[in-house]
Amino acid sequence: MSDQPLLEVSGLKQHYPITQGLLNRQVGTVKAVDGIDIQVRAGETVGIVGESGCGKSTTVRSILQLEEPTDGTVLFKGEPVTSFEQEKLKKFRRSVQLIFQDPDSSFDPRMTIGESIAEPLIIHGMRNTDKHRSIAMNLLDRVGLSTNDVDRYPHEFSGGQKQRIALARALATNPSLIVADEPVSALDVSIQANVLSLLEDLQAEFGIGILIISHNMGVIREVCDRVNVMYLGEIVESGPVERIFESPAHPYTTALLDSVPSPDPDTKTGSVQLSGEVPDPSDPPTGCRFHTRCPAVIQPDDYDFEQSAWRAVLDLRIHLRKHGINREAVLEFVGESGNSLDGMNTTKIKNAIRNEFGIPERIGDSTAEQILDQALESIIAGNQESAQKQLRNEFSTVCEQKHPSLSTVETDRNVACLLHDGQQVTKLAQKQETIARRVVRNAGGVKGEDSFSQ
Ligand code: SF4
Repeated sequence: MSDQPLLEVSGLKQHYPITQGLLNRQVGTVKAVDGIDIQVRAGETVGIVGESGCGKSTTVRSILQLEEPTDGTVLFKGEPVTSFEQEKLKKFRRSVQLIFQDPDSSFDPRMTIGESIAEPLIIHGMRNTDKHRSIAMNLLDRVGLSTNDVDRYPHEFSGGQKQRIALARALATNPSLIVADEPVSALDVSIQANVLSLLEDLQAEFGIGILIISHNMGVIREVCDRVNVMYLGEIVESGPVERIFESPAHPYTTALLDSVPSPDPDTKTGSVQLSGEVPDPSDPPTGCRFHTRCPAVIQPDDYDFEQSAWRAVLDLRIHLRKHGINREAVLEFVGESGNSLDGMNTTKIKNAIRNEFGIPERIGDSTAEQILDQALESIIAGNQESAQKQLRNEFSTVCEQKHPSLSTVETDRNVACLLHDGQQVTKLAQKQETIARRVVRNAGGVKGEDSFSQ
């Protein structure tokens, strides 16, 4: 594998303005891709993984200059693609081939597959039809199909076979890089492995680089050397696949890995639950964009109660801020829609709200429990503003205030999470001390506060 990157993407941004009114006044921005770096070397397979809507496909369109990026540079073999003139851009598009998700819509049903495979050759100026046919037959053979298939039509093939044909077509122009956007997600699980192993074989044979986009960590593990985990337009973790699968450093990566089904029936997966909704990219959360769903979100300095209870309290706070919880909503939680809260047992109502957000009957910190109880009373009284204030003052997190930058945690391994931030590590140590102080204070001051400052 060469050390010189075939593709080098730096600070890539793709922002879309949100406009309103007759004058198309800009009222916001969708930051679909927000400053990402990616490298692919010849002979290497690099993955971009993340949920739908995280910006993976926009990244691909921007890299291939199908959309002009808002900012950033894309170097191909050391040359800036963003400033290529028409002729160079055409050459670049011959060297970089795209494979789409849905093999059914990748082909013109009126063209034989031989004609489809030869199409890129015609686009790039090769007019000799005899040569087209022999190249198509050769490529069909390379992807494990019969040379006699050259005159057949797309509808005569299965999904897996069509994806093989798509690979043959991608190889027709002898590319240096193949970009595969969800290449197996539309295929049956039973044939996904065949197509992935064909991709690997072709890479070994032709020495090409592959950039593969997927929402599925299982696919990434199967074929990639390195992976970039993407969340809401940003890369939150990157590194060698093996190491990331051994020890994911970002909580989002952990959640993605946890969703991969295990062939071992005794291995439990699906235990990491992401709470809340996927945020709107036109209005991403402040601080760490993942804080509205992160199971490991950092607790306020003064607290250290059960993490799941803390997550649930934060969910209540975020829901209250974003959507509000009026008395009708509370009645729905209690299962008494259409009735009145007046005269209803308060403990029953509080438990129904707790239940709705997964907050246990009591949380293991008396101060936090007291504040939460007061906020629940404010909600029941219809005073949402006061509840919001109480929860915000007591239950805020550094994760919503500080944006974590992607930093190196070990060679070739980067993570954007405050849990790996040097300052935060110090802060966590301080937090331990604060908690210790409070525990002692609550226990009646067995130790004086001063004994901790020595
Ligand atoms: S910075 Fe906070 S919210 Fe973001 S991933 Fe790390 S722990 Fe979770």
